[in-house]
Amino acid sequence: SNHRQDKDKETNVQVLLRCRPLSDDEQRSNVPKVVSCNENKREVTVMQTLANKQVDRVFTFDKVFGPKAQQRSIYEQAISPIVNEVLDGFNCTVFAYGQTGTGKTYTMEGGMRNKGGDLPAEAGVIPRAVRQIFDILEAQNADYSMKVTFLELYNEEITDLLSPEDSSRPLEEKQKKPILMEDGKGCVIVRGLEEESVYSVSEIYTLLERGASKRRTAETLLNKRSSRSHSVFTITVYVKETVIGDEELIKCGKLNLVDLAGSENILRSGAREGRAREAGEINKSLLTLGRVINALVEHSAHVPYRDSKLTRILRDSLGGKTKTCIIATISPSSYCLEETLSTLDYASRAK
Ligand code: ADP
Ligand code: MG
Repeated sequence: SNHRQDKDKETNVQVLLRCRPLSDDEQRSNVPKVVSCNENKREVTVMQTLANKQVDRVFTFDKVFGPKAQQRSIYEQAISPIVNEVLDGFNCTVFAYGQTGTGKTYTMEGGMRNKGGDLPAEAGVIPRAVRQIFDILEAQNADYSMKVTFLELYNEEITDLLSPEDSSRPLEEKQKKPILMEDGKGCVIVRGLEEESVYSVSEIYTLLERGASKRRTAETLLNKRSSRSHSVFTITVYVKETVIGDEELIKCGKLNLVDLAGSENILRSGAREGRAREAGEINKSLLTLGRVINALVEHSAHVPYRDSKLTRILRDSLGGKTKTCIIATISPSSYCLEETLSTLDYASRAK
């Protein structure tokens, strides 16, 4: 029934909207604001003047976070329940989607840690999720193990952000074989990707910092690379549940935290050769992700996972019993109006 479908939509794909504050520079230069957020009504209003008439457009989401929303409150309201699902043995994915400069990386990474090792107020989704997972497992006195991977997808090529090598050569260049391999159980394995076993929060933070700085280094080498690349941080948790005789029952859950390429790349077309190819390739993963999510929320028979590397990598964590959360990020500035509307359209279609 329709009611059932609505319920499924609500529970399996959640779309949140976050509007960042104006930066100090924007405030100093009196940049006009065209976005207003009503967190209680879960509404975002965009004020637009067309032919001297004010035309407001209103969008509704599962949750709305205005410019004053703190990292901690977003985490507690939206992400913490997802992490609990992961510890119950489900695979879940959180995406940050939006125009470059609207706060995707701030939302996902933010400040990683303070000197003492505790979470700073600006800590984003990734460090908070890592902390929650360890805190819960330690409190349960669980017998657990954990693995993390951190990769970057650029031009439909995968770079291992955890590889000890300095170079950020894509895995594809190092091997002749296809990089993605199906394991026969619906999972896709990335050949040659470093999988680190981790035993403490601080160990993960060290890996994260290494990966994040590698992404930034690559960015300075290749102008604006991070606005065109996706990063995928994955943490897989194994918890030993019971032992019956010689049989061990192990519960396994996976959490993917994805900082997507800037959504402006989805529209870009007509650029010259190299750029066109590049933009085209990024379109492929972003566009396919949009189609996959649409197919999932509409319960279509065919979900086009195979059409891009991003959706192949995330295949076992999208759809079915998995939970998906999209955090769409926007700027309040009038200069971003067009991109903001396009993000709001894309994100509201995903519901
Ligand atoms: P993106 O990854 O989408 O390109 P960033 O996360 O790099 O954007 O954010 C751009 C700038 O805005 C950064 O300096 C970041 O610290 C700042 N910023 C983004 N969102 C917020 C926020 N909610 N509160 C304060 N500063 C923010
Ligand atoms: Mg970024």
